[in-house]
Amino acid sequence: MSLIDNALKANRKYARKHDPRQAERPAPKIAVVTCMDPRLSNLPEILGLPHADIDVIRTGGPAVTDDVLGELVVSTRVLGTKEIMLLNHTGCGFTTFTDSELNAKLSASTGDSSPAPMRFFAYKDPEQNTREQIKKVRSHPWIGKEIPVRGFVFDMKTGLLREVNAEAVETAA
Ligand SMILES: [Zn+2]
Repeated sequence: MSLIDNALKANRKYARKHDPRQAERPAPKIAVVTCMDPRLSNLPEILGLPHADIDVIRTGGPAVTDDVLGELVVSTRVLGTKEIMLLNHTGCGFTTFTDSELNAKLSASTGDSSPAPMRFFAYKDPEQNTREQIKKVRSHPWIGKEIPVRGFVFDMKTGLLREVNAEAVETAA
């Protein structure tokens, strides 16, 4: 039995205690962009916010792609979130390779290079990644100036968030 088959079985049990009010329109208060890393899944505990308040946007890295910007526009303009938190972390899998390395490796191992160059948004420094994200989100004309955009690096060893100062953009390597 696969994990998905197990999940389907568990879902039938879950549905018996599911709150039907969940069918109502959600009203999240904050948008959090974070990595697909499973260690960042427990945001309500990490951030001390209820599930219902957090609009979670996840990508590898995380990468603030054009799609993510679109989601942030919808989150703030349609769903009504009032703050944006960019949540990076130490020990990210996306720092362990470069886009060109992975493209070369997969082209070789599969014998098919037609998807290359694929964008994986690999990066090296989470602080620099965060600074670039803040700049990208902050400069988007459809994300209201009244919405705070703050970036952080979550330390996997200590569990603490460290705020990244966007102003260091010009001097960072
Ligand atoms: Zn990651």
